Amino acid sequence: MSDLAGLTEQARAAIGASDDLSSLDAVRVHWLGKKGVLTEELKALGKLPAAERPAAGQRINEVKAAVQAAIESRREALESAAVALALEAGRIDVTLPGRGEHRGTLHPITLARQRIERLFRNAGFAVETGPEIEDDFHNFAALNIPPDHPARAMHDTFYFPDGRVLRTHTSPVQVRTMLSQKPPLALIAPGRVYRWDNDLTHSPMFHQVEGLVVGEDVSFANMKAALHEFMQGFFERDLALRLRPSYFPFTEPSAEVDISCVFCEGQGCRVCKHTGWLEVAGCGMVHPNVFTACGIDAERWTGYAFGFGIERLAMLRYGVNDLRLFFDNDLRFLRQFTSA
Ligand SMILES: [Zn+2]
Repeated sequence: MSDLAGLTEQARAAIGASDDLSSLDAVRVHWLGKKGVLTEELKALGKLPAAERPAAGQRINEVKAAVQAAIESRREALESAAVALALEAGRIDVTLPGRGEHRGTLHPITLARQRIERLFRNAGFAVETGPEIEDDFHNFAALNIPPDHPARAMHDTFYFPDGRVLRTHTSPVQVRTMLSQKPPLALIAPGRVYRWDNDLTHSPMFHQVEGLVVGEDVSFANMKAALHEFMQGFFERDLALRLRPSYFPFTEPSAEVDISCVFCEGQGCRVCKHTGWLEVAGCGMVHPNVFTACGIDAERWTGYAFGFGIERLAMLRYGVNDLRLFFDNDLRFLRQFTSA
């Protein structure tokens, strides 16, 4: 029999010296494995006289159990030390200042649209919407633009193979509203429109606001007053407003709407090409053919309609000189707009 007490001491020393789990496992194999020191001791029992075997076997098993227990307790100690180390490495210092969240803002076109809607709602207008893919009837025919009408060429229309179109203006919404609601009506229809056009002042997709008022005594003067009131509200200042004769198929008479230049107060500058005036909208009295196409009695009802581009008004309000800035999505530009 070897010196079991000495072996036990050696094993304990080796276990205590293990400073990680893999060296501890090597110690376990050395002492308790198939060819381990204590296993070999048990095998050697056969050489002892029969009378001594039980006591010796019991003694060896006690030592094995003690070594096993020492290994287990060392393993637990090493594992909890590893966990403590990981926790320390991942510690969060809650006293450090926060990194800060950048607060997003609405797109300037959205801000301008919301501002326009608010002003018109306050004046008693409803806000209506319609589809961006339209059929010929709603985009053209019902608006007094029959198939052979030259105005169709002015629209640079995107066509689908089946003849439907990406709407070229928001006017189809007034057709849809007149077909589904009974006058009197007062509505605006803001939304995206599409034209085959792309340069410094044109984008293939842009935003328009259509306005329509139908009543029994609606006059040209009512229209001018409503537009004047709106423009002054939008730009938050007193403005002069003038109408110039124009032509649109769906209104008669028709006019272009100019306001006094918001940059030079009408004195003349580069933006207004030294005229003192800015063209901002088109308008007119609803053509009787449009009423008839929409099932409204043109003898009884009169109405006015107007339309303008949201980008155009936003550029003037915010002093933006390139339309494409609105669509480039450069955050340095967009972050400048926090409120309308
Ligand atoms: Zn000017």
